[in-house]
Order: sequence, then C-alpha cells, then structure tokens
Amino acid sequence: MAKWSRRDFLKTAGATLAAVAAKDVLALDLLAPVADPLGAYPYRGWETLYRDQYSYDYVARSTHSVNCTGSCTWKIYVKDGIAFKEEQYADYPPINATLPTYNPRGCQKGANYLEYVYGPQRLKYPLIRTGARGEGKWRRASWDEALSYIASRITANIQTYGPDTITFYSAIPAKHFVTFAGGARLANLIGGVMCSFYDWYCDLPPGEPITWGEQTDSCEAADWVNSKYLILWGANLLETRIPDAHFMTEARARGTKIVAIFPEYNPVSTHSDLFVPVKPGTDAALGMAMANVIVNEGRYDAAYCKQFTDFPFLVRTDNNKFLREADVVSGGSTDKFYVWNTATNKAVLVPGTWGDSNKTLNLGSIDPALEGTWNVTTRAGSKQVTTVFAMLKAKLASYSPSAMAGVTGIDAGLIAQIAREFAGTKPGRIIEGAGTNHYFHNDLNNRVQILLVALTGNVGKPGGGFDHYVGQEKIWPEHGFINLAYPLTTAKQRFQNMTLWTYVHADTVSDVDSVLPRPLSQYITESVNNGWMPLYPEGTLTTGKTPKVLIIWGANYVNQSKGYEKVVNTLLPKLDLIVDVNFRMDTSAFHADVVLPAASFYEKWDLNSTDLHSYIHPFTPAIPPLHESKTDWQIWIALAQALQDTRYSYYDAKFGMQRDFSRLVADFTINNAIRDDKAACQYLLDHAEETAGVTMDQINTQPHRFTQTSEVWTSDIKPGVAYYGFQRMTEHKRPLNTLTGRQQFYVDHDWFLEMGEQLPVYKPPVDVDAYPLRWNTPHGRWSIHSTWRDAKFQLRLQRGRPIVYLSPGEAARRGLVDNDKVEVYNKNGSFVAHLNISPRLPDGMAQMYHGWERYFFQQGGWQTPTTIRIKPTQLVGGYGQLKFKLNYWGPTGNQKDTRVEIRKFIG
Ligand code: SF4
Repeated sequence: MAKWSRRDFLKTAGATLAAVAAKDVLALDLLAPVADPLGAYPYRGWETLYRDQYSYDYVARSTHSVNCTGSCTWKIYVKDGIAFKEEQYADYPPINATLPTYNPRGCQKGANYLEYVYGPQRLKYPLIRTGARGEGKWRRASWDEALSYIASRITANIQTYGPDTITFYSAIPAKHFVTFAGGARLANLIGGVMCSFYDWYCDLPPGEPITWGEQTDSCEAADWVNSKYLILWGANLLETRIPDAHFMTEARARGTKIVAIFPEYNPVSTHSDLFVPVKPGTDAALGMAMANVIVNEGRYDAAYCKQFTDFPFLVRTDNNKFLREADVVSGGSTDKFYVWNTATNKAVLVPGTWGDSNKTLNLGSIDPALEGTWNVTTRAGSKQVTTVFAMLKAKLASYSPSAMAGVTGIDAGLIAQIAREFAGTKPGRIIEGAGTNHYFHNDLNNRVQILLVALTGNVGKPGGGFDHYVGQEKIWPEHGFINLAYPLTTAKQRFQNMTLWTYVHADTVSDVDSVLPRPLSQYITESVNNGWMPLYPEGTLTTGKTPKVLIIWGANYVNQSKGYEKVVNTLLPKLDLIVDVNFRMDTSAFHADVVLPAASFYEKWDLNSTDLHSYIHPFTPAIPPLHESKTDWQIWIALAQALQDTRYSYYDAKFGMQRDFSRLVADFTINNAIRDDKAACQYLLDHAEETAGVTMDQINTQPHRFTQTSEVWTSDIKPGVAYYGFQRMTEHKRPLNTLTGRQQFYVDHDWFLEMGEQLPVYKPPVDVDAYPLRWNTPHGRWSIHSTWRDAKFQLRLQRGRPIVYLSPGEAARRGLVDNDKVEVYNKNGSFVAHLNISPRLPDGMAQMYHGWERYFFQQGGWQTPTTIRIKPTQLVGGYGQLKFKLNYWGPTGNQKDTRVEIRKFIG
C-alpha cells in the first residue's frame, strides 16, 4: 500500500482548495478527486474504540430500590465484566389497546445509578468506628470480626436487657422485597423489634384507615387516563413521579381537565388547566368549602351515599355516639348500627357492619334517609337521633366559599367553580401528594379530600377516587412477602410504630399541648397502657428502659429523622450498638458503629413492584458484588451464622417460646432451600396468590402483570382493565374493613369527640413556632430522598449544594441577595445553606428540597428545625378499623407545621 504522509495530505488538500478558490466557484463537481486521505494512515485500530464503544457481552435486567415508587425495569449492559450503560427496557405488556403503555419507564437518576456502583461513595469493606459517633473515623475490618462483634453485642444486650431492646429498621418492602425480608426474617427468629417506616416518614395517609379501613390501595397510573377531572392536590407529578407523569399529560391531551392545587408554582402547575395557589396548610378549608357547595346545591350522588357511606347512619344527639344495637336491645351488639328506613318509617339495623355476619352492602328493601331527626326507644328511654349526613351538612354550613376565601387565599367564585366542575365531570379523581399529607392535621386533610370523592360517587369507579402514591405498599404480593419475612408468623413478631419509638426515646418534649384538650403525655401513656400502641422496650414509660441496638438497612433513618438534633444528641447515645447495612456512606452509616458493605442494585437478585403499575419484575446480578460487598440476603445469613456461633438461647416469655440460636441458619434458610438470593425470590413468588406459578426466569424475560388477586387488595386485577381501588365495594357490594362497613366519615371514639374531629373539619396548622416562615421540604427532581443527593451528575443540574428558596419579597425584607449564605433557624436549632430567590415561592414560606446528607452542611441539617409532633387521634386503638398495625395505623412523623426565620450568615 502506498504510504501517505500527513504532509502529502495537507499539500493535496491545500492545492485542491486553492484551485477552487482561484475559480471562485464552489461547485462540487469541480473539486479534483483525491485518494482516501486516511488510507495511508499506518495504524487505524484506534477507530474501534469509537466503533465498539457500545458493544457489549451481555445485557442484564435490574431496577432501583430507592423508595421512588418508580419500579422501572432497566437494561444493564456489561462488557469485560464492567457494567457500563443503562437503558430502559420498554417491555411491559400493554393493558389494552387504548391506554398508554408503561413503556419506556425511568428517570434521570435511574439512568445514572452506575455512578454509585463504581463511585467514591461506594462502601468496599466492613468498617468499625474508631472515633466518636459521626466523626467519620473508621478502620477496615474483616467480615468475621464485624459480624462476631455485632453478634456478641446482640446476645449480650438480650441477656442483660431483653430482646425488645434489639431494634430493626428498614423502609418499603416493595422496593426490594427480599432485601427487606432478610432483616425482618432475622428479627422474627431472634425476637427483635421490627419498626414501621410508612407512618414515620409521614407518607401514610391516616385518613385512609380512618375512612376506608385501608391504606394506600391506589389505582395504577394508567387509570389516570380514565379520569375526566383530575385534581393534583400537592402531587407534583412532573418532578416526583417522572416515569408516570406522561399518563397525566396524555389524559389532558384526551380532554381531561387538570387542576393543580399547590402553595407554590411548580413544574406540574405549568401543565395544568387551572393553578390554585392555596395558602399552605389550608387545604382542608378549601375542601370543606367545595363540599359545602356540593351539598348545598344538591350536587352529591344520593343513591351512592346511602349505600357506600355512613351518611345515613343514626347518631344519638345526647352523646354524639352512633345508635348501636346494644342501646336498643338487651345483649345487643356494640358493632351493629341503625339507619332510618323511609319505607317503614322506623330505625332498622343496616347490613354489612362490623358486627353483622351478613357481609353485604346490599340494602334490600331498606331505603335509608339521609337527613332527619327522630326519636327512638332505647333501653335508657326515648332518645333523639339524627343522621351523619345531617350533622355533616350542619358542619359544612360554616364553610361557605366566601367564608373560606380569606382563609385559603382562593376567590370564592373559583372555589364554587371547582366544586361544581368536580361534581359534574365524572369520573373525577384527586391525586394527593406528600404536599398535604405532611401536616399535623394530615388525617383531617385526607378525610376532607376523601369526602369530596365520596359525595360525588367516585370511589370504586374506573377513573375516580382519591389516590396517594407516597410510598409503595399496594399493589403488591403481600402474602409471599409475609411468608418470607416472618417465618414464625406475624403473631410472634414484636412490631413498633417508629414515630412513637423515636419520640419517646429521643426524650422529645411536646410543644403542641396548647392546641390539645390535654397534655400529649397523657394520651401517650393511656394509649400504651391500654395496649393501643406498643412501645418497646416494654416498661419504657415506667422504668425508663431504653433500646440498646439499632440495625438499619435499606433506609437512611438518621438523615430523614424529624427532631434530628434530639435523635442524634439524645436517642443515639442511648444505644450500645448501631449497625448500618449500605452500599454507600450516607448519614446513617456515618453515625453507625459498624458499617456492612452491601451489593449494589445491579449485583443481586431481588423483586420490585409499585402501586403505580401492576407488574412485578426482578433485580438480577448484572455483575458480581464488587469489592468485599455481599448481597443483603447473604449478609443476614452471615449474621445468623455469627449469632449461631454464640450458641445463645433464651426463653422469650412474651411468646412463650425458647429462641435457640444454635439452629438459626437452618431456620433462616429453611435447611438451605432459600440459601441463595434467587431461591428466596422464588419462594416469595410461590407464596403469593398474584404470582403463584411464575418463575424468576420468566419475569427476567418480561415483567409479569399480577394475575390472581388476594383479599388484601380492594379490587380484582382484570385483564384489559387498569387497576383502581374499591371495585369490590361498588361491584360486589363487599363491606369495607371499617366499623360501619362503609366509607366512614363519622368516628365516635371518645378521643375524636374530645378533639372535635368526629366529622371532617378544617384545623389550621399548629403554628406554635413563633417564626414568620413555614418550612417546606418537598421531594425534588434531582434525588430520590437522600439517594443521588451526593451524585455529581445530579449535583450539576442544580447549584451543587444545599439551597433554600425564598420569594423575592421575603428576601428583600431581610436584605438578602441571591446565593447569599444564610442561616435558617428556630428554637430547635439552625443550619447554614445558600439562598435561591425564586418568584415561584409565595411569601411566608421557605423551601428546601429534602434529603441532603448531613455532611453537606457547614452547620446543622435540613431536619434541624423540625421536632416530632404526635397527634392524639393517631394513638387511638380498640375501635374497629383503628387498631395498631405496622405501616397501616399509628402516629405519623409530620413536619410541615414547622416555622423558621432566615438571616444572613456571617462566617
Ligand atoms: Fe425508575 Fe426509580 Fe429507577 Fe428512577 S430511580 S428509573 S423512578 S426505578
């Protein structure tokens, strides 16, 4: 081959150009032909670098377990043992031919998880703390040393203080069922305490258990397209539900009206038909005013309300209690209730209630009155009764749009317009975000919002209802998970509401007593003494006993803690041992005594689902666990082995059983049957009605839509139909899991009556902090909680450090300019951040997207201004649907009532 030098090439090219220029023409056919200028290059192998940069050896399927509610299935490309590229799979089977599909599905964080797999944040080997907690001083340890140390501290503390001092904490099974189940399984076998997370994060909407006896049985995102009127009430879908936001915009393209109710102007507001800038914390006032219009103008669905709500139930006017069979008949039930039958003009027992064996909402020949006042003969004489609906109507009278205009900041005419449109456009849906759920009175916010969809007959219909997506609980294979997580059954498990546990053990001092009928401490003591809420260790309130061990995995407990300063400075010092299982050094790991390195999401088998779609799909090990990391399942088996090696055994008096650690590994692995991660996944699939007969290899080929549904859901999964809640109620007349068997808006528990909350009402935020700015910490688009907060590509999309947003007016009043270093403070402490002046913020509010790790702050942290505030009504038990159940009913760790002030930081 003739050799060309670079000099030859330049010479020829220059001559050609000169010739063209000389003729002053640019016609290509006048260009002189030249030989391939690269043909003479001596070495061209380098070109394969570009040609083959996307070649790969194989593709594996995985997803991300970060509590995003995404559950998006991804391709991970691997070459020479290195995972180098992520791409959406886009193979969810369609539900039907008319609904948009879930393909492709993902967000920019998920497209960038590899930064963590190979990044400097990655934990490589076990670490044991050498400095003070949170100081960041560690030494490398072997697995044997770390596990032996943990096992010795666990057994020593059980021996000295009891098993209920050993505390396990993780979050959201659905984001990684097997990873979650591993820790829970060990807790179940050794007698430890398993804590809740959903109420503690305040993602649980407590109005749902109160009204429906259910939590978060929401429709999948495809059903949004079936809605004709969609209210986004604090649900910033475009920032926080990125994979599903297109269902909202596609619904809008098909004619659905989108109404966005937020205090601040945000990305989803720009894509709505109507933006309603409600004053923060006045959502229930707006909802009550809408209900006022719907009821007063007769725009409610009377037939629906008679059958599917407690509106016709009779209430005694002398004591505000439901009229019960026990009031009327000697030996009668306290769980059977009456309506006034207009067909016979007398009070009759209504079917389908808690105490009724006739489990149907079919009213038969009964035509209940919605309004009226009557006298009934009880065992204590004649008593006046009225209906729940009549009482509700009287309550709503004080919530006219004009009366609420000043409270909410929304014009009375606009309130009436939304109410009329919502009642008149079926089906209608409210999607609630964390925005209204993080207030002290979140239960009231939920109850008012549910009231609107019940009055209009929307619950239990395709395209209708009240749906809440903050957290991933249903749709899920519950029985498979419970079988895997609790081998000795849930009856032999110590469960703990995390809000109460943290509140008490952080020695929190109530600052809400001024808005309560009695001091909060009284309610807590009564609730615990009544057995309504558990509090471990047992005897804490009388003996001051404290927990001793805290094991955290799949969660960032310390960083996300309300009352952060008290948690770090009071609660953590009480603990003898803190263990964190993690793939990266987050704030919780930073405060731990022992850190165990976990496999990344691309290095293990696991399962993942969400309430935003109806499919299940796997994590698979695209690459083996890097460095010395192990999968979570293997870590729990290794810890079981270390505990077994202690040969410890003790009698667990609470459950009347001997807990023998000498066979812990066999018990954990069912004699090796579920020793490996994939087998554990298959075990879960085999034990869930929704996935029975489905194999891991099948769902690795394509995501599986849940098929048969269990009784834990409120609806059937039907082929060709997007999932929505409460279909069994409307179609099969199946009673709900409430005292009245219906959507229950009247709660006659003594504490609800004492609080004046027997019916939905509006109560303003608990503004006991005497500071001018409401502290708002919403979910953002550049992280999923604290995950990706420390990832460089996400940091580049923002200002790269914690920023607090303030309106131009509030900034000017404080003499602050953009990017100033500021101090945010209140009575709980202060932190330092940089200022972003944003006109989309209303006056009276300061905002920071949540999740920043503590080590980003020069001083304090984003949770520093918060405290823990427990609402007494959420401590109630022993009342129908209001009974403690993990992640279903218990006090929530609300934080949006927090108020702060901001000043320029010098230093
Ligand atoms: Fe989907 Fe969540 Fe992964 Fe984003 S982080 S791609 S929402 S699974």
